[in-house]
Amino acid sequence: MSTGLISVAYVVASVLFILSLGGLAHQESARRGNWYGVAGILIAIAATVAGFDPGSLTAIIIAMVLGAAIGLPIANKVEMTQMPQLVALLHSFVGLAAVLVGFSSYIDPLVVMVGVEHTIKLVEVFLGIFIGAVTFTGSLVACGKLDGRIDSKALTLPGRHWMNLAAVILCVLLGAAFLGTGSMAMGIIFLIVMTLIAAVLGVHLIMAIGGADMPVVVSMLNSYSGWAAAAIGFMLGNDLLIVTGALVGSSGAILSYIMCRAMNRSFISVILGGFGQTSSSSSSSSGDETVQEIAADELAEELRNADSVIIVPGYGMAVAQAQNGISDLTKLLRDRGVNVRFGIHPVAGRLPGHMNVLLAEAHVPYDIVLEMDEINDDFPETDVVLVIGANDTVNPAAAEDPTSPIAGMPVLEVWKARQVVILKRGMATGYSGVENPLFFRDNSYMLFGDAKESVDKLLGAIR
Ligand code: NDP
Repeated sequence: MSTGLISVAYVVASVLFILSLGGLAHQESARRGNWYGVAGILIAIAATVAGFDPGSLTAIIIAMVLGAAIGLPIANKVEMTQMPQLVALLHSFVGLAAVLVGFSSYIDPLVVMVGVEHTIKLVEVFLGIFIGAVTFTGSLVACGKLDGRIDSKALTLPGRHWMNLAAVILCVLLGAAFLGTGSMAMGIIFLIVMTLIAAVLGVHLIMAIGGADMPVVVSMLNSYSGWAAAAIGFMLGNDLLIVTGALVGSSGAILSYIMCRAMNRSFISVILGGFGQTSSSSSSSSGDETVQEIAADELAEELRNADSVIIVPGYGMAVAQAQNGISDLTKLLRDRGVNVRFGIHPVAGRLPGHMNVLLAEAHVPYDIVLEMDEINDDFPETDVVLVIGANDTVNPAAAEDPTSPIAGMPVLEVWKARQVVILKRGMATGYSGVENPLFFRDNSYMLFGDAKESVDKLLGAIR
């Protein structure tokens, strides 16, 4: 394929990626957005492969088949609830790719550059490997935390910010030495030492972030992986990779910023590994408080007599796969004239938009699915709130206890309703590991059991 045609294909792919991002911004157009993305990536792969020297085609095809053989079964097997850790793992691959491409383009004997061009190339290599190494190990830790293999609590070592600062200063000094050395052997040593320091920095930055801030971390690592891809684009002289990387990098950064605002967290604090975060322990209940239980048929009676009901879903709804039952329950109640709406917290579930996707899949009408800001003032006028597998996102401690690790995070103020019924299996805490005083309030009732089974019982009792 001629260079001109490849450039045209790259422009078309870039436009499709931008349309894809635009489509993904709304539930109604998300499916279309996905298709734009798929078309864009197919064009991009075809044009990139067509641009290669025919001699290297066999190696590329083997690599693609191998990648697909590993990726397809993993993607098919992964549960919706495991998506965030898969996304984090995929981010780590981009980071690793940036590190490998950086080393290989530094030692590539075919690339001979002099003067400013040479210096720019060295800076690209150094920065690309640095961002890649931080992204690689940081994403692996994020994956471990989301998967429960690593404790989700923040690791707050004494003087941790000074350690981070020292690591960055060391890397800057190594960078200066790398640019100054004329010897490739010394250059490789500087690169290896910097990679090790950046890898430790990646681990430390993400270990210092507590469970409640993980959503922001996932989207921030998404942004880092974009910048790592852009760095690879510069090293390989591939314009499409630069554009795509910049799109991912900037949209990830914007999403992180929006999520930080929604969770009342400082963007800079999260980026710097929990800077300014207190290491207060989770507030705990005294242990002698009691909860009130409610049976499915009693709750059915309450729902039948209610004028307004708000359903607040959380991660437990995804675990139980209760969304279809909830959709049926919504229809049944609406047919009886009850005003049923949904309240969605921006970080409910385990990835942004998790609840919206599940409810859309179960055909819950979009117009009754409201964001936290749209519905929070309506709880005092609501008869019954059904909290289905949500915990941290409805925790009053965030609003009322300044010592709580989730203090300041806006939550759905469900406790202001006349009656709150929480559907969960036991008294376990949510993802952030913080106790929830909501369960012990006078107007709170627990319907214990798997959310799907409880919703099925409710359906049976209401019908
Ligand atoms: P939580 O993680 O706070 O709570 C989920 C609750 O669901 C648990 O208390 C659990 O209690 C219950 N549960 C689990 N399985 C079932 C089941 N089968 N049936 C009924 N209940 C069940 O969920 P939220 O959605 O309220 O909050 C999300 C949390 O995840 C926040 O802390 C957020 O910061 C974090 N997070 C969010 C991300 C995002 O992007 N959205 C990404 C990463 C983390 P029990 O075991 O007793 O049943």
